Parts: sequence; structure tokens; C-alpha cells
Amino acid sequence: MERMKCIGILTSGGDAPGMNAAIRAVTRSAIYNGLRVKGIYRGYKGLITGEIKEFKTENVSNIIQQGGTILKTARCEEFHTPEGRKIAYETMQREEIDALIVIGGDGSLTGARIFAQEYDVPCIGLPGTIDNDLFGTDTTIGYDTALNTILDAVDKIRDTASSHERLFFVEVMGRDAGFLALNGAIAGGAEAAIIPEFSTEVDQLEEFIKNGFRKSKNSSIVLVAESKHTGGAMHYAERVKNEYPQYDVRVIILGHIQRGGRPTSHDRIIASRMGVASIEALMEGQRNIMVGIEDNKIVYVPFAKAVKKNKPIDEELLTVLKELSI
Ligand code: ADP
Repeated sequence: MERMKCIGILTSGGDAPGMNAAIRAVTRSAIYNGLRVKGIYRGYKGLITGEIKEFKTENVSNIIQQGGTILKTARCEEFHTPEGRKIAYETMQREEIDALIVIGGDGSLTGARIFAQEYDVPCIGLPGTIDNDLFGTDTTIGYDTALNTILDAVDKIRDTASSHERLFFVEVMGRDAGFLALNGAIAGGAEAAIIPEFSTEVDQLEEFIKNGFRKSKNSSIVLVAESKHTGGAMHYAERVKNEYPQYDVRVIILGHIQRGGRPTSHDRIIASRMGVASIEALMEGQRNIMVGIEDNKIVYVPFAKAVKKNKPIDEELLTVLKELSI
């Protein structure tokens, strides 16, 4: 194999705070190791349209503290098709990009995996998603910041909930993963979390009503993961209104504020470590892996494992929430 000279970097799918710290780390580490770097704009779309710019160290100055992504992100339907991926490959050849670093979630890394298989292009993924739903890493870039945004909201909701003695359902993001809802509930002192992982096993609302709301509390907050499996916060609020009309219910959907904001120190540090590790991995000849962190150590996880396996919820967390919400 010829020596690698130039890498391309893109952010794709849902944006997450800390993506900029990752872009900075990948860019600087690549340059430090004698590689050229090209920034690809709007995820896979930019690979198809050729919206690409050479990055020097100064292109990533002053961004470590910013949320969002300076490379922009997008969802790209064309990349789902073999024709779209062929154009993407041709762009890479024309731009003399030898390898790709993809920062994104489950969908983006699935795209990278398919592309790498089809064209034998070295691809390295970084887990950039607030959902924390990638297997093989304890945490993903953006998750900690989103969790802290949720806490800020829950603390404020508690003030008004207890003043009015109300039951609040707070819907948080997470797609089909309950990490934000469960850990947000523990850290926010909420009474319960309704998460997709248990939606088929038990009626989580019944459990909560039985165990929680009848106690002598003057307010209750339940975090609900946004998911087709849970039905979302509105679904539970409707149910309570119909089945337990004595309760004064309100719904808050936190929505996109969870994606924004300055990344926490934790997210900046893991993004920096993973960015450096992604270049080390490429230089070692690794390909088609996601860089993760397990037990505070960098690990390389094959794409197939990272995106295919369901990351399990730690049962201990459920016990903690249950015991502490009495
Ligand atoms: P996330 O990376 O946050 O999970 P998406 O699931 O929307 O976000 O995926 C982002 C992009 O990754 C898609 O718009 C598409 O361009 C690409 N992608 C996702 N899944 C595939 C797939 N199966 N084949 C090819 N490209 C894919």
C-alpha cells in the first residue's frame, strides 16, 4: 500500500456538542503526523457535491468551546444508493483523499461501513451522538453535555412542579436508547424514567403510579425517552388524564436545546482523545473501526459491532433510581 498522504474529515447525521473538539483534534493530530487534511462539508452530501476545503491548523482555532459543527452536518439520501456512493468515491479520488474520518452516530457509521466495504477505502469512525447508543464505547461525544442540559431543565421544572403540586412528563431525546432519560432521572432526582428498553416488558406508567405518585410527594417528574417504543411524553400524559383525572399533569418536550450549547469538559476531553486515537489508528494501518473509550482506555471497535449490537442499559442504574425515588 502506498503511504497515506491526505485524510478527509466529515460530520454527519444528528449534530452533537463536542463535534468541533473532535474536528480540531483530528485535524491537528493529522498535521502533526505529516498528513494533509481536507474538511468535507455537510456530511456525505459534501463528498457527493465536492464541497471540500483544505484545513490547516488555524482552520480549527477557537472552536473547541463551540457547540454544533463548523463542517455542518446533513442527512444524505443519495449516499444510501450505490450510485451516490460511486460519486463520493470519485470525489475522493479527484481530491486525492486516501482515508476518511467520520464523526457521527449509528447511521453515519453504518454508511461508512458500507462505503469502506464497497471501495476498500480506510474509514475510521468517531462516536458523535448525544444518544450514547453505540456499542463498544462507554460514552459518546455530546452525551455528557446533553445530560447536563437536561439537568438544568429538570432543576427548573422541579421549582414550578413543587409549587403547583403537579406531575410533569419531560420528554428527552435518545431515539431508541434510554441513557439520557435514565441517567437524567437519577441525576435530576426524578421519580421515574420511561425508557424504550423496557417498553415491551412492563407497563412503566402503571409501575410508576403504583410505586411513586401515591406517596406523600408534592411534585413528580418523570423523564420519558422520545421513541416509537415508549410513545413519548404526550402519550403518558393523555393516559394519566384519562385514567387518573385527579392528577394535575403537564408535558415538556425538551427537543433541540439538548443538541446545543458549549461542550462540557468531559466531552471536550473524550473528543480530543478519540481524535488523536483515530489518526494513530490510521497510521497503524487500522481501518473500518470506531474509536471508543472503555474503562477510560481507548479501544478500537469494528464497525459491524459498534452499529449492530444493542448497547445494554446497566440494571444497577434502574435499582438506583427506584431506591432513591421513594
Ligand atoms: P446518525 O449518524 O446521527 O445516526 P442518520 O441515521 O440520519 O444519523 O445517518 C446519517 C447519514 O448517514 C444518512 O443521511 C446517510 O447519508 C448515511 N447513512 C445512514 N445509514 C446508511 C446506510 N444504511 N447506507 C448508506 N448510508 C447511510
